[in-house]
Amino acid sequence: MGNEELWRAVLTEMELSVTKANYTTWFKGTSMLSSAQGTVVVSVPNIFAKEWLENKFNKQIFTVMHKYHPEIREIKYVIGGSRPKALLARKDFAQFIPESMGRDNANDDVSSQTNLNRRYTFDSFIVGPTNELAHAACIAITKKLGQLYNPLFIYGGVGLGKTHLLEATGNFLASEPPAKKIFYISAERLTAEIVESFKNKTTEMLKQRYHGYDVLIVDDIQVISGRTSTQEIFFSIFNELYARNKQIILSSDRPPSNIPSLEERLKSRFEGGMLADIGAPEYETRLAILKAKAIEYGLSIDEESLSYIATNIQKNIRELEGALKKINAFSQIYNKVPQLKEIKQALSTYLNAPYRKPTSQSVIKSVADFYRISTSDLTKRSRRKEVVRPRQIAMYLLREEVKYSFPEIGTKLGGRDHSTVIHACMKIKEEELNSDAMRQELMMIKERIYQNFETV
Ligand code: ADP
Ligand code: MG
Repeated sequence: MGNEELWRAVLTEMELSVTKANYTTWFKGTSMLSSAQGTVVVSVPNIFAKEWLENKFNKQIFTVMHKYHPEIREIKYVIGGSRPKALLARKDFAQFIPESMGRDNANDDVSSQTNLNRRYTFDSFIVGPTNELAHAACIAITKKLGQLYNPLFIYGGVGLGKTHLLEATGNFLASEPPAKKIFYISAERLTAEIVESFKNKTTEMLKQRYHGYDVLIVDDIQVISGRTSTQEIFFSIFNELYARNKQIILSSDRPPSNIPSLEERLKSRFEGGMLADIGAPEYETRLAILKAKAIEYGLSIDEESLSYIATNIQKNIRELEGALKKINAFSQIYNKVPQLKEIKQALSTYLNAPYRKPTSQSVIKSVADFYRISTSDLTKRSRRKEVVRPRQIAMYLLREEVKYSFPEIGTKLGGRDHSTVIHACMKIKEEELNSDAMRQELMMIKERIYQNFETV
């Protein structure tokens, strides 16, 4: 068996045993250079692939090779002949400017037919313990459209990959025969379309159009909360597609049971399929994502620096990406590989942010936004049932996150007595300890607090 064939045998084996994203990340561009005196030399495109193959996959690769050529004793990995990627031409630079300086969609490529952004694929999605269920569910439905999980409902916090997964699923389906009508839309946009159709008296036409899809993907469905007429039209579209076994895929920043002002019948439809959550990625996944993105950008950066970023930026993947883009911009501007010291400097705004204290306004605004009530509902004396609980949560968060005293909190939120505040804080604390749902709810609100907090 020649070198090429042997390496192909290894690749086939690896392809079967790791996820597609990992396979692409670590094995793309590898080849076998030589084999002599029991030593095989494998060429890899970059330092990450080298380390990864040496540390994680060597045993497995060795086993396959040994099966065909028992005389093989050792495998060496060399970064093969490929020059480091040339500096990008000026026109490509826009793609890499830091997020704070521009939109990160310069390389977007949206299909006019499906409204899908082609840049999101399964291949570029790194799978880890916190997103593997959602990923597996997406893959599973592509094999049994409309019949397995309908709807598939994916939920999780901001920047954790919901849109990426939804669009990747759509893109994958679009690339596979048989041809089908696929449509992706954000719920915000869908709401606007529905409102527009009321104005123009074209609602029936709009429904007809949506009834024609084989796969309908609606992103951020939580925004239809409180919008009665949108919910009504969506319910009817949903039922029609569902009855005809057409696949519906939805995403939301929270599970259906936590979406306020959502009609009961919609809630139960959403819960009738498969619910899959995406959580914040743990260290290993963050590192793997950084490595994959560094390769994608053509950025050479050492393991220690990547590990520094992965350790310090934990909240979400969009931020990880933003940090790397910033470093990449640095490396383009100064035409050199940034060292750890410079990386720390470049990321100081990100890294210091979580240690600053949020303001009381950002807490109150985030709680109000989350429960879709007004901030004055929280700060006034109202005893309406639907504001009691959000107010208790606001009290708790003012205590925990802003370190206000109990009397201060009382004054801020409807002139309550400090014993009322203590009672509320204890109650929420206890729920946080005892209920997963409560912990998740608080986490989502905190996410908002720290997001709002730059802007308040
Ligand atoms: P959400 O819709 O949940 O807010 P996005 O899907 O927009 O999050 O993800 C934010 C960014 O992070 C996107 O650029 C996306 O490509 C990237 N991303 C998220 N999850 C992953 C992953 N598992 N592997 C690679 N990139 C990811
Ligand atoms: Mg999204």
